Amino acid sequence: MRILVVEDERKIAEFVRRGLKEEGYSVDVAYDGEQGYQLAHLNDYDLIILDLMLPKIDGLTLCRQLRQEKMNIPILILTVRDSVKDKVTGLDAGANDYLTKPFAFEELLARCRALLRTYGEAEPTKLKVADLEFDLLSHRVTRSGREIYLTLKESSLLEYLMRQAGKVVTRTMIAEHVWDINFDSFTNVIDVYINRLRQKIDRGFDRPLIHTIRGRGYMLRE
Ligand code: CA
Repeated sequence: MRILVVEDERKIAEFVRRGLKEEGYSVDVAYDGEQGYQLAHLNDYDLIILDLMLPKIDGLTLCRQLRQEKMNIPILILTVRDSVKDKVTGLDAGANDYLTKPFAFEELLARCRALLRTYGEAEPTKLKVADLEFDLLSHRVTRSGREIYLTLKESSLLEYLMRQAGKVVTRTMIAEHVWDINFDSFTNVIDVYINRLRQKIDRGFDRPLIHTIRGRGYMLRE
């Protein structure tokens, strides 16, 4: 799950970025509306967290613009304004939810999860492929009931593969959804992580779940 944070206050941006990363999300930050607009078009985000008072293009204008262009990503507005009128204006501009600063990170996280769930067509709390299970709430991964311990990045990668189960995922798709904008796609980091996942998920089992699709990428399937 990749999130774009558009926030000009560096401290808040960093606080949100770090917190979301710790939860396993890939996060990019834009520090003004214009950069936010560009990044939103450049990458495939699952959620945008948008401040209202921004340099260059303000949050409401940006929100309207993205909706006019039929960009159908959930948008969570984050702002100090808290009057009913401002909330209504924000929601009318096409935002899906609204959070007033100062906020508790736990609440931001809960709202992000709710938005991602709504948009993910009744997102399940558990992913299952054959005997491999990933509990999205507790971040617990098991295969045949045996617990598998993954690092944050490994579990983000596995989550993405499981969500795309049965489909070919290219390295570019993985880079876009699991890593962030600072990722150097010319490295072999993705292959390294796939191999680590294989060691943890498939080793000791008769049927491998992670398959290499020659010349294209990878696929997770039974
Ligand atoms: Ca601001």
